[in-house]
Amino acid sequence: MTPDSRKIRLILDLRAGGVTDRLVLGAMERVPRELFVPKLFRDKAYDNVALPIGHHQTLSQPLVVGLMTQALEVGPRMKVLEIGTGSGYHAAVAARLCRRLYTIERHPDLLGEAEARFAELGISNITTRAGDGTLGWPEQVPFERILVTAAAADVPAPLVDQLAEGGVMVVPVDDGSDDGRRLIRVRRSSDGVETEDLGPVKFVPLVPERVRGTG
Ligand code: SAH
Repeated sequence: MTPDSRKIRLILDLRAGGVTDRLVLGAMERVPRELFVPKLFRDKAYDNVALPIGHHQTLSQPLVVGLMTQALEVGPRMKVLEIGTGSGYHAAVAARLCRRLYTIERHPDLLGEAEARFAELGISNITTRAGDGTLGWPEQVPFERILVTAAAADVPAPLVDQLAEGGVMVVPVDDGSDDGRRLIRVRRSSDGVETEDLGPVKFVPLVPERVRGTG
């Protein structure tokens, strides 16, 4: 199969999996996923699978990237915060749909590689930071959208506080049940905070700095 036909097959898989938003599909079609995966896995870049990116972390499965981005309801004038830059792939996809994307990663090496990819692709609306994303980015509040790409034990409270009124956050939450993590959508309105369970997803854990291990 040629890279183009692999990409077309992936887009069909995404549609079949429930990604119907044409802006999200268009963004995923335009971001070259092969640049975000280690050389060894380049031939799998357009397979609908999660791939290792080092430091025991993974680049999420394309279907998960698509469903999360769609659930986030991003608009072109919005300021978005992402927690867990990883390879930078999801950031590159979401950045095509918003005004500016801020992204935080706890592994400085991964962040450095992601920054190099953004530069190579000429992406200029992503601002990066190394550190603990569970604390958010207080200097840049409020955010219209927050995308958490690592699973948390609960919806991180500082992130809810940093969400604008009318804002939406999508976060995988590990509720300890057998079917893994659940994708939760949080909406903040003048009346308060509303949460919605969008179903099961697979994710690596969100690690707060205070219990930081060697991983
Ligand atoms: N969005 C990424 C997926 C990365 S996997 C991509 O498109 O490739 C989740 C990432 O979250 C990992 O890189 C992990 O190091 C990072 N992470 C986990 N806990 C974190 C925390 N508390 N703060 C910032 N990043 C964190």
